[in-house]
Amino acid sequence: MNNCTTTERRNQFASDNYAGICPEAWQAMEEANRGYACSYGDDTWTERACRLLRDTFETDCEVFFVFNGTAANSLALASLCQSYHSIICHETSHIETDECGAAEFFSNGTKILLVPGPHGKVDPDAVEHTVKRRLDIHYPKPKVLSITQATELGTLYSVDELRELGHLARRLDLRVHMDGARFANAVAALGVHPSEITWKAGVDVLCFGGTKNGMAVGEAVVFFNRELAREFDYRCKQAGQLASKMRFLAAPWIGMLESGAWLTRSAHANACAARLEARLRDIPGVGIRFPRQANSVFADLPPGVVDALHGLGWHFYTFIGSGGARFMCSWETSDQDIDLLATDIAGCCNR
Ligand SMILES: *Cc1c(COP(=O)(O)O)cnc(C)c1O
Repeated sequence: MNNCTTTERRNQFASDNYAGICPEAWQAMEEANRGYACSYGDDTWTERACRLLRDTFETDCEVFFVFNGTAANSLALASLCQSYHSIICHETSHIETDECGAAEFFSNGTKILLVPGPHGKVDPDAVEHTVKRRLDIHYPKPKVLSITQATELGTLYSVDELRELGHLARRLDLRVHMDGARFANAVAALGVHPSEITWKAGVDVLCFGGTKNGMAVGEAVVFFNRELAREFDYRCKQAGQLASKMRFLAAPWIGMLESGAWLTRSAHANACAARLEARLRDIPGVGIRFPRQANSVFADLPPGVVDALHGLGWHFYTFIGSGGARFMCSWETSDQDIDLLATDIAGCCNR
């Protein structure tokens, strides 16, 4: 962002990663900073964070911490398939549109196959068709179904939809990867136990986002299918994703999980998006694109309004998913921020 040169005084709606570090994560980092600890994950903070994630999911999963979501997704996907396989995902998936080919790179060329589906969610029939349309040796053999929860369009798969996809994947011999950059928002919005939308629905590996939830950096790769985690530590190391001061990737998870902040902070972001949606629905000429279920609102703005808002200093994206202006809320969004933005949008629409 060439116009993003200073620390912003005003909160923005471009992404949830514009927000800072939330107090619970910050405090845990501070505690981890008191003295020495073993390196490369051989420390008590990492052990405790892994244990807390196992408790959270109520299952004996394997957990790894990496620096960002692109690494989490592409390394997890690489561990689910061989280079001659293929990964099926929605056409708006982050792994397809926003990771610079990392999934293909780290899997040594595994092909991504795109399927459509309403509101950013894969259509099960399209998945089945993609698997079955070719069974010959010339086609990259489908091996993974990758789904995003919450989706890139701010929508959610319901528990039933996930179970259906899980069954479909089993039937088609596909492994299931979940991009959970905004997994916390999904759990908070659905009000379900995290196990219900992961391993109980057939998810083999979850990339659980910490950054957008309120941490400085870091995502957890959670293998519910422990077989698939074999030698994942080597994969992380080779990819430059093994933190030597691992405790600073792990400690924030302790702060977020023990306090429950991972859910209260994401519920707050969701509620902010709901409030913003309500404000925008009251402005003549503004349309809302998708069912608003998590922490983003996609709006259709009248001609000229996008430029006018940019002129007023607002940052937001217009290229995510299938267009429209995306307004993303975070743990740090306030009522006042929403009021400022909504007032400016209404003002620009009235010009
Ligand atoms: C933000 C995001 C990621 C992770 O992106 P990084 O910039 O690599 O941390 C992954 N998936 C989705 C859907 C995201 O929104």
